[in-house]
Amino acid sequence: MLDYDLHCHSTVSDGLLSPTDLVARAAGRGVKVLALTDHDDVSGLAEAAEAAALHGMQLINGVEISVSWRSYTLHIIGLHIDPTHVPLAEGLRTIRSGRGARAQLMAESLAKTGIGGALEGAYRFANNPGIIGRTHFARFLVEAGYCKDVKSVFKNYLVKGKPGYVAHEWAALPDAVRWICGSGGVAVLAHPGRYTAGRKAMGQKTLRELLREFSDLGGQGIEVVSGCHTVEQYAEFARYAKEFDLFASCGSDFHGPGESYRDLGHLPDFPLDCRPVWQAWEAVPA
Ligand code: AMP
Ligand code: MN
Ligand code: MN
Ligand code: MN
Repeated sequence: MLDYDLHCHSTVSDGLLSPTDLVARAAGRGVKVLALTDHDDVSGLAEAAEAAALHGMQLINGVEISVSWRSYTLHIIGLHIDPTHVPLAEGLRTIRSGRGARAQLMAESLAKTGIGGALEGAYRFANNPGIIGRTHFARFLVEAGYCKDVKSVFKNYLVKGKPGYVAHEWAALPDAVRWICGSGGVAVLAHPGRYTAGRKAMGQKTLRELLREFSDLGGQGIEVVSGCHTVEQYAEFARYAKEFDLFASCGSDFHGPGESYRDLGHLPDFPLDCRPVWQAWEAVPA
């Protein structure tokens, strides 16, 4: 069992718990090293660090950056970043600034199918309005009785070809990697098992091209153990880590009680041969 959890969300993005409550829950579940990785925003890190100190837990400064690459939206995690690094802070600000207009278009798309009040409804679930996103719309659609839970929303709405979907241009991959690495952090490709273009999963050839490009840009890690992956995928992505000489990362991608595939912590060990990503920032014994 790993006592590291390097991917989770607070109310600063689309999680359900405040940074303080998230850290307390992680500590209670045996996590010793936690990275808070809110989408496109680092404003929860100071509060999380304060809470972590009270629990004797190590808090790693993190972020999950939304990236457009070919026809895919990718998520690139930055670990051990410096949140005050100006290009990173400015870059994240630029990404966030597109979310408001996108939300407006999402609400217009939903209105066309007879779902009214979605914009106001979604903002009611967004503790941090700057990061308004699909999860907040999903929670509104559940509350309004259109779907039984958030997972079923993403089958019928908000994805390509369904009401509420709006194509969006996020950060470019070279920029996201540069912001992270420039701040002293490690760039990690999040949940590689989750990427789709339309309904089609990313194939092996495309993933190899992505990893080649990511690695050439300075990306150093890949999420192997993720709350979004099956056990078979742990082995599959461990093989890619080895092939591309990348560190392996692990994270629950916890968003909130009852809403995520996995709760915080209790993550299974890496497959053999993986180099844990924390070797990138922890002193390696001589
Ligand atoms: P956005 O950044 O606004 O496009 O929202 C992306 C977020 O939507 C992800 O980080 C997840 O929290 C959530 N999400 C996307 N797809 C799904 C899904 N199939 N099931 C549950 N949540 C999802
Ligand atoms: Mn999310
Ligand atoms: Mn993600
Ligand atoms: Mn995430």
